[in-house]
Amino acid sequence: MSAIATNLQAVRARIAAAANAAGRRPEEIQLLAVSKTKPLADILVAAAAGQRAFAENYVQEGCEKVVATADLGLEWHFIGPLQSNKSRQVAEHFAWVHSIDRLKIAERLSAQRPAHLPPLQVCVQVNVSGEASKSGCPPHQAAALCQAVAALPHLRLRGLMAIPQPVDELSAQRRPFRELRQLYETLRSAGLPLDTLSIGMTHDLEAAVAEGATIVRIGTAIFGERNYA
Ligand SMILES: *Cc1c(COP(=O)(O)O)cnc(C)c1O
Repeated sequence: MSAIATNLQAVRARIAAAANAAGRRPEEIQLLAVSKTKPLADILVAAAAGQRAFAENYVQEGCEKVVATADLGLEWHFIGPLQSNKSRQVAEHFAWVHSIDRLKIAERLSAQRPAHLPPLQVCVQVNVSGEASKSGCPPHQAAALCQAVAALPHLRLRGLMAIPQPVDELSAQRRPFRELRQLYETLRSAGLPLDTLSIGMTHDLEAAVAEGATIVRIGTAIFGERNYA
């Protein structure tokens, strides 16, 4: 078996163990394989091992991979920071965008979504406490942004996404995820039809599953360390 296929099995086992520990069913958690910087050959190996959903951070690299795998029936998610001038390519190539952090970008994606494609599935990225990046909308603005995004015709708002600062301790990993989940529950109580919490990466998968992740975004544990050289 290839290293990638072995790694995929190990990641699925981690998800199942974390789900069982949290009293959840493993099938509630979708594994997104984050293939940024990795060659097409690695994606093909993962797809041959049964992986269907993939994610990319960079627009040009991502669009090239979407086009190159068009006949494989894969589901492609965009998870990186998104600039206005690149929104059209994302609207035309991807099934999901997890990194909506302002209304302007959502409006552009909705306007640019081709009519022959289903609505673009989106998550609002929230800058929870201890966020590593500057991106993500502040928690107190998330309700208004979600309401506005939910009203756009060619987007379908699915949930919330966050990328907390990497920390080692499980309880410290869980804190920002719990904050995000509480916001998610508040928004659901307010009537927003959310069903997706996109949280958890290689180092904090278990904490995310414990706090209710429905999508985990895993790169390193599947494809190995990234080389940005
Ligand atoms: C790169 C990346 C991941 C995957 O990170 P790993 O630590 O390699 O699992 C997940 N989410 C986002 C937004 C990323 O940029």
